Amino acid sequence: MSETITHCPYCSLNCGLKLIGDGVRVSGHEKWKSAPFSGGGLCAKGVTAWQQVHHPDRVLRPLVRRRGGFQETDWDEALDVAASGFARLRDRHGPAVNAVLTGASLTNEKAYVVGKFARLALRTPHVDPNGRLCMSAAGAAYTAAFGLDRAMVPLEDVNRAGLVVVIGANLPNAYPLFMPHLTRARRRGTRLVVIDPRGGKLLRPGDLHLPLRPGTDAALACGLLRALDDQGGIDRDFVARRTVGYADARAAVEPWTLERTGATTGLHPDTIADAARRLAGASHAMILHARGAEQHPTGTDNVLAWINLALARGLAGRAGCGIVTLTGQRNGQGAREHGQRCDQLPGYRRIDDPQHRRVVADRWGVSADELPGRGLSYVEILRAAARGEVRGMLVISTNPAVSAPDLGRVRAALATLEHLVVIDPFFSETCRHARVVLPGSTFAEEEGTVTTTDGRVLRVDRAIPPLAWRGDLDVLRGLARRLGALQHLDLHTAREVFDELRRLSDGAPADYAGLDWERLRDRGGVFWPAPRHRPEGTPRLYLDRFAHPDGRARFHPIHPRPPVVLPDAVYPLVLTTGRHRSHYLSGNQTRRIPSLVADAPEPLVEVHPDTAATVGLVHGRSALVTSRQGSAVLAWTPNPDLRPDTLFVAYHWPTINQLTAAHLDPVSGIAGVKHTPVRLHPADVVVAADVGPTGRGSERAVS
Ligand code: SF4
Repeated sequence: MSETITHCPYCSLNCGLKLIGDGVRVSGHEKWKSAPFSGGGLCAKGVTAWQQVHHPDRVLRPLVRRRGGFQETDWDEALDVAASGFARLRDRHGPAVNAVLTGASLTNEKAYVVGKFARLALRTPHVDPNGRLCMSAAGAAYTAAFGLDRAMVPLEDVNRAGLVVVIGANLPNAYPLFMPHLTRARRRGTRLVVIDPRGGKLLRPGDLHLPLRPGTDAALACGLLRALDDQGGIDRDFVARRTVGYADARAAVEPWTLERTGATTGLHPDTIADAARRLAGASHAMILHARGAEQHPTGTDNVLAWINLALARGLAGRAGCGIVTLTGQRNGQGAREHGQRCDQLPGYRRIDDPQHRRVVADRWGVSADELPGRGLSYVEILRAAARGEVRGMLVISTNPAVSAPDLGRVRAALATLEHLVVIDPFFSETCRHARVVLPGSTFAEEEGTVTTTDGRVLRVDRAIPPLAWRGDLDVLRGLARRLGALQHLDLHTAREVFDELRRLSDGAPADYAGLDWERLRDRGGVFWPAPRHRPEGTPRLYLDRFAHPDGRARFHPIHPRPPVVLPDAVYPLVLTTGRHRSHYLSGNQTRRIPSLVADAPEPLVEVHPDTAATVGLVHGRSALVTSRQGSAVLAWTPNPDLRPDTLFVAYHWPTINQLTAAHLDPVSGIAGVKHTPVRLHPADVVVAADVGPTGRGSERAVS
């Protein structure tokens, strides 16, 4: 038997584990007790992750659509059909007719190759990852405020913080292995301020809960900044030495009195004042935020407003202090650094910066003019498909037919594509629209590196060769060869790609140049930036200076805006979405694992008991949730820890994003899925519990 040290393929904590097998089959896992951060712990998803590897649903032979159905074929024919479709469209309509939707669960090496493939093989500007829908608002805000998009400090720093402010981050469900760190911190006296429409498992006696109205983050942050100032809680020395722009930011929050903030957010003014007092009284505090604060059409402003608060308290440059965005996906951090975004080149280089373009073009052996410019972002690509401007699409490691907002339109757009090629280990909902489905690899079949939510670069190793014979890098190389671009993508192993990526990032904002393939394993990971002269990396950023040329962080004046569409008489409630502990993203992997399906077989909309009574929901009978975009019949459960004007549902099933809208943040392109006006009624159907291995539950009338 063999042991392979690797990391869980799901959330961005990347807990370490050992896969057990014989080099051909994976048969289980064991604890890796010295794993960084998690120390061998795994949640229910991590424990069962190995079960996806030999799952009977795996797509192991390429599929090509013929006469209305899919037929298995060999790799050569499938790659020929896939590549020739893109080439034909490109010859007829120009390269921008093709697009690539990609994923933030890919390793750094695959993310790098996907970006290079799009620009040098397809020659299209349109490539963007699903991280656009998750982390882009935080990324835009961090870049604007600090000059760099990375968490300030390692997550372990919560153990040194007296106060942890958690904003729109459901830690027990979304980051289960974060909880032991919080438990240890609590034993030393750490208290939490939880800002979320839902309360729940995160709260303990002594904590403070601010159940704000969804969509009012910026207003709350502005009210807190003003209250902090009124209470004498501004760190004036830090603000003067290390920042610019405080006066303008302070002037912008002047209208945000406790009373106005309370009226806007639905919170009692005393609760807001209490939160400000706790912040002012904490010498060491960390602010953690996630999608609840970010997935709004004002997402970038929301994060900037919370950053203003962190800067005003001087929360930088010290252990146990900082503001950290918790990325959702396994490689949500690394996959946004290495060139698969429509506005970026590898190493966080900007695609619209002539100097950055020159550096990358030189190292890729092309002229800067040959590099496409800025393309469309994730949702914009889907909209362009609906208009017939994008006609060919490669989809890898993302499942827009479940996870994109306003699904009715997304599915229609996918159906209109002339040529859709999907690379996936499983036959996802998106595959139903494909012309060619190419088998993808699971985490056990790949090696490479991933970067945790706090910037630690880790090695992942493969336990077995790709079950479908070709790994993802090999598939992309095969397509590139058929598109006449093999000279740019003749990369055979993850280590080759890692070395190219590492060299290319030399001197870039996300500098991996000093990383060493072997030492990454020996040391349990290295925090970037790790330039050549500092290969040991940089766990804590901004000890002396921020990443802007003058070394100072930027305050931003924030003027809170209301949600694009407000609740009204027809749609009086607000639906907000999030994660369930047993599922990951669109559920393409986890909705096939028996114990995870048993724990959460179907979506369950949470309703405050008073609201349920008002609309006449009956225990055991389902609810009909309707928005302007669509409707869904859902099982429901009472949740007294939820605001009465708000509904919550986990988004891992195909029905949920039928309800959400795709209003985009103009800065980051993130979609506002956390605030959807809806109405709620009893449904005259019961949601059947027969969710099969594909997760496609049926809804049938029973009376
Ligand atoms: Fe760890 Fe996240 Fe995997 Fe759970 S899902 S084992 S918390 S990496």
